[in-house]
Amino acid sequence: MLFSDEVFKRKSELGGSIEVICGSMFSGKTEELIRRLRRAQIAKLHVEIFKPATDTRYDENAIVTHNQNAISSTPVDNSSAILLLSSDAQVIGIDEAQFFDTELPHVCNTLANRGVRVIVAGLDMDFQGRPFGPIPALMAIAESVTKVQAVCVQCGNPAHYSYRLVPDNARVLLGEKESYEPRCRSCYLADGHI
Ligand code: ZN
Repeated sequence: MLFSDEVFKRKSELGGSIEVICGSMFSGKTEELIRRLRRAQIAKLHVEIFKPATDTRYDENAIVTHNQNAISSTPVDNSSAILLLSSDAQVIGIDEAQFFDTELPHVCNTLANRGVRVIVAGLDMDFQGRPFGPIPALMAIAESVTKVQAVCVQCGNPAHYSYRLVPDNARVLLGEKESYEPRCRSCYLADGHI
């Protein structure tokens, strides 16, 4: 880990910060987000968690990870709603951030400037390897960016692509968990993507 939680606790006392956790599907982004948020809860900080209302794959009111390690969260329709709903939060987690609108970096900056520690998790690339939604801009303004890697199911090397198993060009698919597998660069390219 590039920065310890202790470092960020001291930083937040000075004026807030933005952390980005990104990677492919099955890379453990949400697990890492939850790990950091649980440590903040143990430290008795006021934690609020948000996700886009469009992400309703499993549970309306919880961040649910692939290993069922859930933490309660609030679905919101757009990023500016986070500002309205987070008045006295000291730590704010945002999951599936790639699905939010382009105002999200501004929202995160506003919160960090108020002294809030903002931790954002999301896909860095879509299935075609293109930077996804507001994540690139968030990576640019963040104090810390952690790229987590999955394991390539073809060869076992570290994977950072989400390979789509079904022939559909829509950027977002329903039931997406079953429709993808993590692949390394060479295994991703081997089947004709890009
Ligand atoms: Zn591979």
